[in-house]
Parts: sequence; C-alpha cells; structure tokens
Amino acid sequence: MIRIYADHAATTPLCDAAWQAMMPFLREEFGNPSSLHSWARKSRKAVAEARQTIAECIGAQADEIFFTSGGTESDNWALKTLGRKHIVTSAFEHHAVLNSCLAIEAEGGQVDRVSVRKGGFVNPGEVASATRRSDAGLVSIMLANNELGTIQDVQGISRRINRDKWLMHTDAVQAVGHIPVDVESLGVDLLSASGHKFNGPKGVGFLYVRKAVQGRPEFRPYLNGGQQESGMRAGTENVAAIVGMAAALRWNCEHLDENVNHLDALKSQFIEDVRSFCPTAHLNVEEGQLPGFVSIAFPGQSAEGVLHILDLRGVAVSSGAACDSKNTQVSHVLSAIKLPKKYASSTLRITFGVENTEDEVEHMVQALVKTVSCR
Ligand code: PLP
Repeated sequence: MIRIYADHAATTPLCDAAWQAMMPFLREEFGNPSSLHSWARKSRKAVAEARQTIAECIGAQADEIFFTSGGTESDNWALKTLGRKHIVTSAFEHHAVLNSCLAIEAEGGQVDRVSVRKGGFVNPGEVASATRRSDAGLVSIMLANNELGTIQDVQGISRRINRDKWLMHTDAVQAVGHIPVDVESLGVDLLSASGHKFNGPKGVGFLYVRKAVQGRPEFRPYLNGGQQESGMRAGTENVAAIVGMAAALRWNCEHLDENVNHLDALKSQFIEDVRSFCPTAHLNVEEGQLPGFVSIAFPGQSAEGVLHILDLRGVAVSSGAACDSKNTQVSHVLSAIKLPKKYASSTLRITFGVENTEDEVEHMVQALVKTVSCR
C-alpha cells in the first residue's frame, strides 16, 4: 500500500542535511561541550556554529538564541518569566501558551485574550487596546496558527503597542523555516521555535530573546542547574539535535522560494481536484495561510471517521491539532473563529510538505473520493 504523509503541521520528516549533520554527534563525537579536554572541543564548536546559523536565519545575534527542548518549553519560559504580571494573548494560541496563561492566572497574574476574526486573524488594533488597560506586560500572539495556517500581522501589532512598556513575544513554531522570519522587521522581543516543525529532529527548539531584554530581572532561568546557555538554561546540550535543527533551518531558508512554489502548486492541485468531485467541500480559510496548508470541511461527514478511513487507505491527515487527538470536541481554534458546527465537526487539516509529489496529491484525492460522500 502507498503511504502518504500530509500532516506536516504536526511534525515533519528529518531532511538529509539534518541527518548528515547529526550523525557524527550521535556516535564518535560524543564529548560534553562543557568539558575541558579535547573531546569537548568539536561539540562546543558545533553548538556555537548552530547558534550562529540559527541567528542568521532569523536576523538575530548568536547570543540572542537559547536552545530548549522545543516549542512548548520556549513558550513556557517566555511567558512564565516575562509575563507574570499581565499578558495579552489571543483565544486561538497553542495550548503551550494558553495553559501557561492559566498557570499565570492561578498565581494572580492578569491575562486578556482577544477574540479572533472569522477568517482566522487577530485584529492588531484590538491587541493594542487591551495593552492600554495596564502599564506594562507581555503580548503573545502566534505568527501562524497551527490549525488554520493563518499568518498573523505580528509586525502590525508590535508597531501599535507601546514597546517601551510592553514586550512582544511570538510563538513562531509553525512559521519558522516556512516563511521569511526576521525578528527586526517583525519587531519582536521573544520568539519560540521548534526543530521538528521544519525537518529537524524532535525534542529541540529555541527561544530568541532580544539582548536588551536579557538584562531584565524578570528574565530568569526556567531550569536551574549548571551554567549551560549562558547560565540561563541548565542541562547538558543535546548536541546532535541542536546541530540537526540548525542544518534543517539553513536548508529550509536556502530553499524557501522553491519550497513555497512547490507547496503552493500542490495545494492548488488538491483544492481544484477536491472541488471537482465535491462541490459542497468548504474551505475554512481562503487566504493568508502558510504554504501548503489546507483547512477544509466536508459537511455531513465526521472528521474523525474520515481521518481513520483515510489512514487505513495509507493517507495521514489531521482533524485538528495533533496534541488534541484524544479530544473529540470541536477544537478551541475552530470555536474561536465561530465556524458553524456542520463545518467544525467535519474539518480536516491537510498540510503538505516538501517531499510530497503531484502523484501523491492525485492518490490522496482518489482516497477521499472513496471515503467521503458529498451531498
Ligand atoms: N506552538 C505551536 C504553534 C505548535 O504548533 C506546537 C506544536 O504543535 C507547539 C507550540 C509545541 O511545540 P513542541 O512540539 O516543540 O513542544
């Protein structure tokens, strides 16, 4: 049976560049970067080079990049240190942000959640108004939503808020490696990213922290222990994963234009083919999405049911966020955009990746034709 993977927003396969870069550090170059002898030197140099590569890819300085265990840790670190007093966020953030906000509220912090407009976009003006309710705090708005793929106007938000008083964080986990990301033009102080979303390994990510913010007393280590990561994130570095993440990001940044063209072409082919067999299929978002991202409803069908039958036919898609796969309720994202129930309960998230082909799209559509009945 042919197996087709179209769930790249959940995770992506490791690219060759990452695998090649990682291999030496999984076996022969195993030195601990913190040791003083010669075994450590290669690992230490590799971590330093990875930091430089990542910084260059997002327009930052190397000493503004802190390695973490992934997007979840980066979000928790940013919010639970610099957002303890007042956070302005949106109703459709990832749970790494939303549940950090709940923890902050439980400890007496204030959280305002702005609503999301129908098409899946946060209104920058609404975020700015919410910041005027108190003197200072942290704004946290994702750069791209993980269920809808909608790219948010983070630049517009950071321009509208008082940056002398308010810090700007963005969860860019879905965006980094897929669209141009530059911390200066976005105007962000903090940015979270995760290796496995851009063809790097799992369990590694980074938090960008603007140099000017690093001196603030609220910016504290999230994990206490040794002096790794300039004393800000203790624990022996996962050298192979860090090196793999940097190689994957460099590969994606160098191939960004061709990747975007390829993904756009696959998406157009898919939508055209679906429309020709199923005129009732409903696109939840029409514009402003990440490349290769489709959120589509098949009214009258159960998304879960369709997902499982497609899986039996060798096609992997999602019915919402992967971390929500045990939760059969309408997702908080689809609720936030007030998607009518008939669409919300029948929504599939199809996210193409660079290794997908036109033939695979054709095969996927054939599998859908056999699976969904369109009335
Ligand atoms: N933020 C967003 C927008 C995500 O999509 C995800 C993962 O799905 C995360 C954070 C969490 O990242 P990680 O899996 O690296 O912990």
